[in-house]
Amino acid sequence: MSSSTPPAHALVRLGNPVLRKQAKRVSRAYLKTKEFKDLIRQMLKIMRKADGVGIAAPQIGVPLQIAILEMRPTELRPEFTQRGPLIIVNPRVLSYGKVLMKDWEGCLSFIQLRGQVERSQSVNVEYMNEEGELIEETLNGLWGRIFQHETDHLNGMVYVDRMEGMKSLMLLEEYKERVVRKNG
Ligand code: ZN
Repeated sequence: MSSSTPPAHALVRLGNPVLRKQAKRVSRAYLKTKEFKDLIRQMLKIMRKADGVGIAAPQIGVPLQIAILEMRPTELRPEFTQRGPLIIVNPRVLSYGKVLMKDWEGCLSFIQLRGQVERSQSVNVEYMNEEGELIEETLNGLWGRIFQHETDHLNGMVYVDRMEGMKSLMLLEEYKERVVRKNG
């Protein structure tokens, strides 16, 4: 196989078993490879095209513990401020803060839905950055929420698994009508 043409990835959708598997840990040496850099480039491109604020490698069919967080104002969440992109490798939540907050979440693997998820307002986390450095820090608010959402993906979980019940679940069109327009 030619090394000059990286495999073209695309979003996989809920129902694909890759989204329900535990992703594999990544070695520090892998971060130096062209394969890793190509993967990150594709993940960024796919996430931005889909107007997402985070993406995990299993979402494009790659079962590795790699994710990207990138917050920026989006059509549906204009209140978001620019932050990132932050590449996280082998991320873990070390401890969940006791204060819980409910907020709306969506997912690139099933973009037609939105639901309210209660998560810790603050989390103490650990991950390797793209330089291979081990980082431990506390993340708050929406940034911490995106970290939790993406790290869940690497453990075979999606946000609906975290919902208390399904009653807040909405189709995207209804969400735009009832939540975005009301707040806008
Ligand atoms: Zn997701």
